[in-house]
Amino acid sequence: MIRFENVHKSYGRHEVLKGIDAEVEKGQVVCLIGASGSGKSTLLRCVNGLEDYQAGGIFIDDRKVDAHAASIHDIRTRVAMVFQRFNLFPHMTALENVMEGPAQVLREDRKEVRARAEEHLRSVGLADKMDFYPSALSGGQQQRVAIARALAMRPEAILLDEPTSALDPEMVGEVLNVLRDLADAHMTMLIVTHEIQFAREVADRVFFLDSGRIAEQGTAEEVLARPKSERTQEFLRRVS
Ligand code: ATP
Ligand code: MG
Repeated sequence: MIRFENVHKSYGRHEVLKGIDAEVEKGQVVCLIGASGSGKSTLLRCVNGLEDYQAGGIFIDDRKVDAHAASIHDIRTRVAMVFQRFNLFPHMTALENVMEGPAQVLREDRKEVRARAEEHLRSVGLADKMDFYPSALSGGQQQRVAIARALAMRPEAILLDEPTSALDPEMVGEVLNVLRDLADAHMTMLIVTHEIQFAREVADRVFFLDSGRIAEQGTAEEVLARPKSERTQEFLRRVS
């Protein structure tokens, strides 16, 4: 459902993505790993048009992503993004944060939006925090609100950029548990993560990005347990 065809992206003269070919199929969980600066966030941001790219194509189903076209708004509702820092609206409660997208963007009936938002907050274990403002929530709780907010848009896929790396260690597990539930429910997800153990557990496929190229891709078992590329082996030695 997300296809990369020879994607090239530069910032000025600095080429950051050097020909990415890969595919995330519907219902798959793909973990994207790689060293700092390898282009993981850039690749994710290109998918929903937060960045443009110069050559090749990214396709959602068969629609080409063009950051400068009007169609990008539709693509952003179909492919939601969850950031490292939770980016909640500080002046809105958890419930209001989750309701905002469907109410404003999708213009859906408020009563229905509210009922669904409550359901999503319950599904991430926050039934008792709906009326709390972000400042009164822990990092892990805020990130779970951010995931509920993404789900409220009824996306076909979710992109997550290091969803646990801004969290205190004791909060990582609760967020990973929510992602495990989503993986079990076959939500299509492309997750940038440094949690190798988690990737081993949930990923259908793993992409290893090295200096703007996918140096290796395959099943979690292939890439994480029996990596072929020396670059992958070296990276895994370093992070584990
Ligand atoms: P990290 O693990 O640290 O988050 P990353 O793999 O997500 O790293 P990117 O953020 O995609 O890496 O950055 C890839 C390269 O692009 C880096 O060399 C970075 O300096 C450069 N870069 C990223 N954003 C910009 C920008 N807005 N302008 C110029 N260069 C940028
Ligand atoms: Mg990054």
